[in-house]
Amino acid sequence: MSASSLEFDVVVVGAGIIGLTIARQFLMGSDDLSVAVVDAAVPCSLGATGAGQGYLWMGHKNPGSDKWELAMRSKRLWDMLAVSIQHQGMDPLDVLGWKRTGSLLIGRTQEEVAMLKGRVKLLSEAGLRAEYLSASDLLLKEPSLEIEKEGGAAFLPDDCQLDARRAAAFIEKENRHFASKSRYAEFYNDPALRLLRSDKSGEVEAVQTSKNTLYCKKAVVIAAGSWSGSLMQNLVRELNTRLDVPVKPRKGHLLVIENFKEMQLNHGLMEVGYVDHQTAAPHCTSSVSSVMDQGQTLSISMTATTDAMGNLVLGSSREFAGFNMEVDDSIIERIWMRARAFFPSLREMSLTDLTKSRKVRIGLRPYMPDGKPIIGPVPGLSKVVLATGHEGEGLLLALGTAEMVADMVLGNPGKLDYAPFSVQGRC
Ligand SMILES: Cc1cc2nc3c(=O)[nH]c(=O)nc-3n(C[C@H](O)[C@H](O)[C@H](O)COP(=O)(O)OP(=O)(O)OC[C@H]3O[C@@H](n4cnc5c(N)ncnc54)[C@H](O)[C@@H]3O)c2cc1C
Repeated sequence: MSASSLEFDVVVVGAGIIGLTIARQFLMGSDDLSVAVVDAAVPCSLGATGAGQGYLWMGHKNPGSDKWELAMRSKRLWDMLAVSIQHQGMDPLDVLGWKRTGSLLIGRTQEEVAMLKGRVKLLSEAGLRAEYLSASDLLLKEPSLEIEKEGGAAFLPDDCQLDARRAAAFIEKENRHFASKSRYAEFYNDPALRLLRSDKSGEVEAVQTSKNTLYCKKAVVIAAGSWSGSLMQNLVRELNTRLDVPVKPRKGHLLVIENFKEMQLNHGLMEVGYVDHQTAAPHCTSSVSSVMDQGQTLSISMTATTDAMGNLVLGSSREFAGFNMEVDDSIIERIWMRARAFFPSLREMSLTDLTKSRKVRIGLRPYMPDGKPIIGPVPGLSKVVLATGHEGEGLLLALGTAEMVADMVLGNPGKLDYAPFSVQGRC
């Protein structure tokens, strides 16, 4: 076999958190499967993953919704991974940036508080530890906040956060252990260009990249985040097939203030308006407390975490701006102003004071118009499986998605209902 023509059981296209965890699942879940991971660049450079804030929170998820079981399963798998890291004598904080801070979903009006109380009831009935905190109880837990008397929060003590870059690097390192057994190979800076079909069987048999032909015995998994739509069109162009995956990039800015000592957060924080901020379609106007403008294409909602390095991370914006990755200073200013509405100590400083310590992170969330990831075999293209469209939840949903994809390909009994995520009828 020449250097440019190689064979694997599974070829995964895209080395964001979704592709990397899918590769890991195939490698860890079997004794002999071989996996190749292909990326147009290197992990955490182009895609959404490197920008992720890292919260794995259930407080803003809706029990009974299509994504609920996947979110629950995925959160459980992350918890199990953190425990297993600890059992191996490592610290999950170092390895994954893992912190069990709990999360606070904060409401400031009577209407928001009524919604939060209902949410706490539903989350408790669904089996999670969840508690409603009045404004005074909330301030005891998070003294940096300013909140009016009628405000309150849903508190989920078991919610966790991780560092997206550390987590991706750890998964990558785990995958690389299998390289010595000839079960794993990476093809970075080598974009996938097209799929090749076997003349004999008509089945998809290989992925042609810019430098290699990667034959696949069992599956090709397309996990290219926001690029999955255009990539699928290119991949199938010569196969006389048409497939419009309606995923599109939803740009997000995060403001990071390094080594921030002026304010300590004990938990991860999110304003209630985030719930609409995430689900809102491009022209939706239902946002409660987040800010939407610019023809309803930009929304900003307050999220705040302290990461594993002690940096204050403030989010976040959502907008449809194509594949543009440039920093927009006006958006950063508005993220800052939104955070100042919640944290009085930030009002004592300006962004200019923080010029040296501030960084901006930008990523393109893979957005699906119906708000659900698309995970499953592509009709008419045997062996091809899609796994994308996780928008602002890809870190949380990664391990459950990976398990689902591997179970589908290997014909294992599914742990979850696949139907809500199926490709059929959505492309
Ligand atoms: C600001 C921000 C904050 C976020 N915060 C959170 C959070 O707190 N919690 C959470 O759960 N989620 C969060 N998310 C969402 C999460 O980051 C994404 O859902 C997740 O990273 C998507 O992962 P992915 O692997 O599908 O895509 P990506 O990370 O975008 O990876 C796709 C990969 O495909 C590659 N690719 C593209 N074209 C090709 C090609 N032709 N050939 C080969 N490879 C190709 C790219 O180079 C890239 O590496 C956030 C996102 C943003 C932007």
